Amino acid sequence: MARGRRQVNRGTGITVRRAGFALGLLGVWTVALGLYEPTADFAVFAWSLAGLVLLFSLLEMRQGGGDSPTEFSFFGTAGPLLWVVGVWIVFRSFVSVAPQLILLPVGLIGWLVISFPLQALLVPFVAVLGMEVGLWAFDFQELAGLAGNLLAYGAAGLGISAFMSSKAYRQRMRKALIRAKRDTASRQYARDLGLFDELPDILNVLPDYDLIEDPEAGSQPAVETITAAFDLQLELIRQTLALSTVALLWPDPEGQEYRLRSIATTRKDIAPGPFRIGAGITGALMGAEELVSLAPATPSLGVPYYLKQLEVGGVLAVRLPDDAEEWLGFDDKKIAPVLCGDRPGQEPWTEQEKTIMILCGRKLALDVNMGRQFQAMARERSAIQRVCLAMRELNGALALEQVLAATIKAVRTLVGADFISISLVQGNSHCVALAEGEGSELLLGREFAREEGLVGQVLKINRPLPAKAQCHGPTQVFGHDHLLTGYHSLLVLPLQKEKGEATGALTVAVKKADVFTKPRQEILELIAAQVAVKVDLGQAHEEINRLATIDGLTGLINHRTFQHGFDVMLVREERRAGALSLLLCDIDHFKKINDSYGHPFGDKVLKEVAGILRRAARSVDLAGRYGGEEFVLVLEGSGEQGGHQMAERIRQEIEKMVLPHESGPVRITLSLGLAVYPDHGTDKERLIRRADKALYRAKKEGRNRVVVWQEE
Ligand code: GH3
Ligand code: MG
Ligand code: MG
Repeated sequence: MARGRRQVNRGTGITVRRAGFALGLLGVWTVALGLYEPTADFAVFAWSLAGLVLLFSLLEMRQGGGDSPTEFSFFGTAGPLLWVVGVWIVFRSFVSVAPQLILLPVGLIGWLVISFPLQALLVPFVAVLGMEVGLWAFDFQELAGLAGNLLAYGAAGLGISAFMSSKAYRQRMRKALIRAKRDTASRQYARDLGLFDELPDILNVLPDYDLIEDPEAGSQPAVETITAAFDLQLELIRQTLALSTVALLWPDPEGQEYRLRSIATTRKDIAPGPFRIGAGITGALMGAEELVSLAPATPSLGVPYYLKQLEVGGVLAVRLPDDAEEWLGFDDKKIAPVLCGDRPGQEPWTEQEKTIMILCGRKLALDVNMGRQFQAMARERSAIQRVCLAMRELNGALALEQVLAATIKAVRTLVGADFISISLVQGNSHCVALAEGEGSELLLGREFAREEGLVGQVLKINRPLPAKAQCHGPTQVFGHDHLLTGYHSLLVLPLQKEKGEATGALTVAVKKADVFTKPRQEILELIAAQVAVKVDLGQAHEEINRLATIDGLTGLINHRTFQHGFDVMLVREERRAGALSLLLCDIDHFKKINDSYGHPFGDKVLKEVAGILRRAARSVDLAGRYGGEEFVLVLEGSGEQGGHQMAERIRQEIEKMVLPHESGPVRITLSLGLAVYPDHGTDKERLIRRADKALYRAKKEGRNRVVVWQEE
């Protein structure tokens, strides 16, 4: 079709080129005369001409003047000539205000050398020389300027052409060209043959990532196999029936034109096509006929594939079997691939010859079918590889955060989702633990009541919702005050281990409608089950981590974590030359508390003291249980004065605290020792030792007091 249009335009194209060429020469002359120098007269004429040059350059570009270097003609150089003139007009008009515009002609020369064969550049380059020399002759530039410009153009042209003629560049270009050509041809063929329809379920479930973006990738092996089968078959039938030519005409998917897909011939004047559907003999096959035989051939029902209709005696054409039409899925069921042959003799076709032709048509249809299956298998294999990859990613994750991230990645890999989120049950609510897609940042971390939204219902009934995995308009997926908008396919799946209660829900939404086919739903359910187990493990992993760092009784960090945290704080403080206060605290006469009120009450006291310390610590500080009834506090950025103030505040708060007990209110006191970084030491051990010494002194001096370390 495109070819036809180009042929129609060929006549006007030549006229445009000739006019453009003349205009180009006029432009060269005006530039050389200095009409575009800032000081020049005739501005109106000059700029009208410039406008025309631009117009013709654009026209020339639309005609595709530059893309057919093989069809070289003198007027064919109109394109490069016009571009040269146009660029020089701009260059000369503004070079006095912007001398760097010299890059424009230099760049153009480079581009011309890359894009056109040398013979097409002769005229434009003579024009360049003419314009530059003219400008010098009419006193618009110095001799040195002329020489400099020519040198720059020469260097650009020679440099680029030397680079392009280098072996490495040529090899790479040749390879890329061959690859690109083969790829495009093979894809178009694959489309024509319908290699991308009717794929097995698994493929609809799991579009391979490459295949989502490019469903035609990887069709080449199938196309090559089919082509080889076609060629062999056609040569076989040509020889059997002593035909001049036998050709297979295949309609394009839109049913607009026939393409010549395979041909066996002894003639030289083959038209490459494509041909209009219904042209010549193919028109006769659009009715009920499966086969049309003509002997002698009539000119109105000729074969489309010859440039000259001479020497065509008899024509025999068959339509490929009906099921072939179905694979192609044309709206117009009359359009089918056609196998068409001719011979010079005018003797009538025998029944046997007709049968052979029909059988050959069936065989060709079978070949395509086999090719399609071959292709489907290749895609299936690649899809399965993708599932394995996604699962491996999920299995490699350990911490909850990793599991959630890996889930999102796996789901994204398997279905091209626009929105994915994971909600986790937390007590009486469900919380969005991770979300990706439009508006996800507003949802992240939000809590909703347990029964709220579609997620709430899914958690309750333990089955995916909505029933048809479709949504029409905004939907309350998470809660009453949140609407998920703009999606047509939606699926909320419970995260449920085998028979247990659901621990969360996976939400997947796609803008396109009808994405979640049954097989696709099944695979998502499979993933959800896998994720449920992994989430459970992830939560256990986190709990173990928490237990390893937190003291179970008081909820403060434990001794080991304090040691590590203190290290980190010291390094940070050293870098910014700040101060730290280290407070060691010990409850006074705690043994007596235990003895008088029992251990459980003692535990309660420890919790209360821990609470006071936790509240005293800012987020940057460290509050920990050092051991037994001893606690530790590290205050970031506090020197001796700040540290002492805080210690005193804590001491007073504890002194004021009244703990109810059945035998009456109980009061306790706390002793604190303070050491300060860097005043009392810079390394961790020394600081701890000195804080401990200070604490010891606080005890010795009567308890319920704060003592700052000092040299004894
Ligand atoms: P001092 O004022 O000199 O610190 O006297 P004290 O009684 O506090 O002395 P000491 O440090 O010897 O006693 C600590 C007591 O704390 C001993 C132990 O029974 C008790 N204790 C340690 N850990 C726990 C705990 O987890 N729960 C309870 N209830 N008591 C604990
Ligand atoms: Mg103690
Ligand atoms: Mg004590």
